[in-house]
Amino acid sequence: MSEVDNKKKQINDIVSVVKLSSLLFSGMAFFKFVQKHFNISFSNFNYSLTIQFVIVSVLILTLIYSIWAFSTTKKFNKKYIIRIQIIENYIFVLIFLCIILLTGAHRSDFKFLFLFIIITTAIQSGMNQGLIIAFTSSIIVLTIDLIYAQGLMENIYFEKDLILAAVFILTAWPLGFYVKTERNHIEKLQNLANEDGLTGVYNHRFFHEALREKLISYKKENRPISLIFIDIDHFKHYNDLYGHQKGDQVLKIIGSLLKEIIVENGIAARYGGEEFAIILPDTLEQDAIKIAENIRYRIQETYFEGEENQPKGKITASMGVSTFPDKAENEVELIKCADDALYRAKFFNKNRVETYHSILDELKKEIEHKDIDLVTSIKTLISVINAKDRYTYGHVERVVFYSRLLAEKLGLSEEDKKKLVYGAYMHDIGKINIGEEVLNKKMPLNNEEWEVLKQHPANGVEIINPVKSLSYIAPLILHHHERYDGKGYPDNLKGENIPYLARILTVVDSFDAMTSNRPYSKIKSHSEAIEELKKCRGSQFDPDIADAFIEVIEENKDNITY
Ligand code: GH3
Ligand code: MG
Ligand code: MG
Repeated sequence: MSEVDNKKKQINDIVSVVKLSSLLFSGMAFFKFVQKHFNISFSNFNYSLTIQFVIVSVLILTLIYSIWAFSTTKKFNKKYIIRIQIIENYIFVLIFLCIILLTGAHRSDFKFLFLFIIITTAIQSGMNQGLIIAFTSSIIVLTIDLIYAQGLMENIYFEKDLILAAVFILTAWPLGFYVKTERNHIEKLQNLANEDGLTGVYNHRFFHEALREKLISYKKENRPISLIFIDIDHFKHYNDLYGHQKGDQVLKIIGSLLKEIIVENGIAARYGGEEFAIILPDTLEQDAIKIAENIRYRIQETYFEGEENQPKGKITASMGVSTFPDKAENEVELIKCADDALYRAKFFNKNRVETYHSILDELKKEIEHKDIDLVTSIKTLISVINAKDRYTYGHVERVVFYSRLLAEKLGLSEEDKKKLVYGAYMHDIGKINIGEEVLNKKMPLNNEEWEVLKQHPANGVEIINPVKSLSYIAPLILHHHERYDGKGYPDNLKGENIPYLARILTVVDSFDAMTSNRPYSKIKSHSEAIEELKKCRGSQFDPDIADAFIEVIEENKDNITY
């Protein structure tokens, strides 16, 4: 519970105690009435009547207490609680009215009871409600005087109660006003604590709090939530050119733009340095894509000082969209999926919106029902590998992407295309057994470490073996490190003896290894990697496949960021 909530609860508790005490006064007044009316004195004490009286009082107290406990629980929404509080206040007014009427109407000594409900309402519900109750109470008191004391020459009761009415209003007004300013102040402080100082959108902490809270209630009600992750393209370049202060200006403008676009119940937040995140409650993926597309377009069309020197002549942003519950079942998955989608957007040449989709989810539709759990475990394994090996993050995604293009180029059958894509998706799964120190090692690996690394194709096959409906991709996993000249591993297969799809995977896998940030070798440019493919055609790679892949790369070089 936050400190503010805690404070609210404490105030509510005190208010309720005051309300209960006022009931006690009412009970005393009622007792006085009963005593007088039935002529009971302590000398001829009527035992059974007193017991009945006590039981009725206890029942009323219990009823009021339950209303109180009910209205202060967090389970109900705010509107509901406010309505209950209003009803509760009027019940109190009604009780006090009865007590006043029973204890002598205009002559009653219990008119002050209204002060209890005026004070508690002003504290609990603010100035307006407080004043409404104060006016209602004043009107009641004065009307009683007018009706019951109308025969009197000089209505001294009315005159006296005019002062009482003034007291009612003068109590509600300043007290309510104080409560109002205090609330505004708290709200301002809360906003400050939740806001990102630079951009004016919500901060990282609030983002997580809001997402967690929303997911809990939306899960129960089975409502969707979409998430958009936004990352500014080539922002380091902009900062390097103009300095961080100018960069901050860009962040500020994008923050205002998001605040302008995301209204109603959407939540725009700064997730990190130059990354923003947007929570869109009750929004399905298709609608979230439209919103993201609009943001992307607005950023692209906004003029930022000096943007002409950015790589594409403009400040742009890439976005990833993910949706609960369709694509992700919990907070961690939702963020991970939006992040993966953002990664895809970056890979496909930036300044674009991508959604998350998993090849394994596609695969799940096709495999036998009994294997679904196993495939889900494989998916988990793959995310474990991605987390362990920073290089693999995205590697799998890219290898799948290239494999699809190359399969098209080589005119593979639909069946083979599928095999290749699933094989590409799982080709490194055997790395799960290899320690991070080997996977992320910056120095060249020693012999022993190489031996460990070389185990991963065989280990991969072992992992997928229990899934009978995946057995057809085992050869791809096992042989994706064979070389065309027979010097590869694990079986030193040569030329056409290496399964065709495995030969395709080798080319794609190696190209991505060359052009990505691998820990143990220098990253190659696009043309350097093509040179390497040419150099190794016939030795490491099947020459025809290497040639076809070079064509694929040349044809798509404008759509991909290396
Ligand atoms: P990419 O298109 O791949 O996103 O390229 P990038 O240069 O934007 O790469 P990346 O997202 O890794 O770079 C983040 C850069 O954002 C690093 C830093 O210069 C800049 N940055 C992060 N936080 C701030 C900030 O608070 N203010 C400013 N001015 N710059 C920031
Ligand atoms: Mg970034
Ligand atoms: Mg960036």
